[in-house]
Amino acid sequence: MADLDVVVVGAGFAGIYAVHALRSSGLTVRAFEAGGGIGGTWFWNSYPGARCDVESKDYSFSFSPELEQEWSWSERYPAQPEILRYLSHVADRFDLWPHIQLNTRVTAARWDDDAAEWTVTTDDGAVVSARFFVSAVGCLSAYQVPSLPGLETFSGTWHHTARWPAEGVDFAGKRVGLIGTGSTGIQVAPQIAAVASQLYVFQRTANYAVPNRNRPWEPAAEREFKSRYRQYRKEARESFLGVPVAGTGRPVLAEPPEDVQRTFTERWQAGGGMPFLGAYTDLLVDQAANDVIAEFMRDRIRETVSDPVVAELLCPRTFPVGSKRLCQSDDYYAMYNRPNVTLVDLRSTPLESASAGGLSTTSAFYELDAIVFATGFDAISGALRQIDVRGASGVALADRWGAGPHAYLGIATAGFPNMFIVTGPGSPSVLSNMALSIEQHVEWIRDCIGYLGAHGFTTVEATSDAEEAWMAHVTEVAYSTLFPKADSWYIGANIPGKPRVFTTYVGGVGPYGSKCDEVAAAGYPGFALGAP
Ligand SMILES: Cc1cc2nc3c(=O)[nH]c(=O)nc-3n(C[C@H](O)[C@H](O)[C@H](O)COP(=O)(O)OP(=O)(O)OC[C@H]3O[C@@H](n4cnc5c(N)ncnc54)[C@H](O)[C@@H]3O)c2cc1C
Repeated sequence: MADLDVVVVGAGFAGIYAVHALRSSGLTVRAFEAGGGIGGTWFWNSYPGARCDVESKDYSFSFSPELEQEWSWSERYPAQPEILRYLSHVADRFDLWPHIQLNTRVTAARWDDDAAEWTVTTDDGAVVSARFFVSAVGCLSAYQVPSLPGLETFSGTWHHTARWPAEGVDFAGKRVGLIGTGSTGIQVAPQIAAVASQLYVFQRTANYAVPNRNRPWEPAAEREFKSRYRQYRKEARESFLGVPVAGTGRPVLAEPPEDVQRTFTERWQAGGGMPFLGAYTDLLVDQAANDVIAEFMRDRIRETVSDPVVAELLCPRTFPVGSKRLCQSDDYYAMYNRPNVTLVDLRSTPLESASAGGLSTTSAFYELDAIVFATGFDAISGALRQIDVRGASGVALADRWGAGPHAYLGIATAGFPNMFIVTGPGSPSVLSNMALSIEQHVEWIRDCIGYLGAHGFTTVEATSDAEEAWMAHVTEVAYSTLFPKADSWYIGANIPGKPRVFTTYVGGVGPYGSKCDEVAAAGYPGFALGAP
């Protein structure tokens, strides 16, 4: 008999909720977490300026009406320490700590066909068996440091934003080089610029950022909002992105130009990426429509950045707005007006190497005391592939996913019985409010395990046919949009040698949830259920 009903890997939003939900349904559960604390993303990414870009009234757990009434967010987009405190509070409130083992990395997981259980090995050499294996390793947790010749000779300090030292980093009076201008680079840059003697931003791809308009959550507004929280959460589950967004419901190309300007300006003033990008129906499916919003954004950059040459370099031109994660910042572009900030354009002068004193591009040498890598993640499948996962007949997940990760409904993959992936490839995951998508997946998994028990089954496995059909649907929907046009981490383009497969479901959180519910209600078609 297995030691446990379920092993969960990871203790971020997903692992925390999986422990709670599965325990509440009477299962024995242990989560292993590589980090020295819970929180996942919000444990590791403690760089200055880290904050959520989905409002916390959305980016928070909805499973407990009491929790959502008790907890009070200080502002619209709280910073990392507050989100971490929240997750810690959740673990306290629901007594989850005894079921989470910190500082323990899962190194291998093997399915035993005969015993119908998983054997899970951790980096302390311990082995535990479980009937079910739940991956909650995170879509954005396997961080990437680009291979930069000579980095080992650099005499200053360097850090990746996703492994930020808990004690912080003192940049006062230092010359700092920042590599990476995605969501994180854009968040951290103004914070460094405020204290460093000099900040060089090494930019390969200019990025779009909308203002946050971050502000405190006033008590009266909070009380009013919380009086209708339940209804709001329901709307979120049915929505496209996991956040209710009121768009105009019209295509931008059919709208008079002055109305377009007014609508975009109002949304720009209000702040937030989702309402801005959700203003019109055609922005993410029609290049001509996308050009309209892109030009609006470039105009905002031009009017903010005083040096016209720098402004033009900051104007994105190589991908449609929204086809990479839309960044949010109140002070990123204005930062370039500071005398101590220099933009280095890597498109015209690529980065060549590091040396003891700093970084060299093809045209100049930059003397530095510190380097910050905001270079992102091996997204979606990276962390799971770091575990030696072997399914039926010893097949390695790394081989099975050699041509790109795939999973039926983004939750289970053929050949790997009793294994579930929270926000896996083929689910809305990183293109949604992830707190909501995580809850939806965990609840589906809990219910599926419950169904097996209630109907005398012990195993569940996605069939290859169902998986292929689902991934074909995922691809078809993706290619009806502008998403695949970008060389983004969504498609694996940031990792050398990674197959280019668009593995995120862009058909909408609501429709996706309905499909998952239908499958469950119909007795799990597309899955092979087995009895002893
Ligand atoms: C800076 C940043 C800001 C973000 N902001 C938002 C936002 O505003 N809205 C939004 O929807 N999403 C946001 N995201 C995405 C975010 O990752 C998810 O919202 C969410 O936190 C993911 O939770 P998770 O539990 O699935 O994964 P994670 O939080 O990544 O947790 C996974 C955990 O698994 C652990 N782990 C991995 N492999 C192993 C192993 N082999 N053994 C043991 N433990 C392991 C890791 O250490 C990690 O702690 C952001 C991401 C980043 C990086």
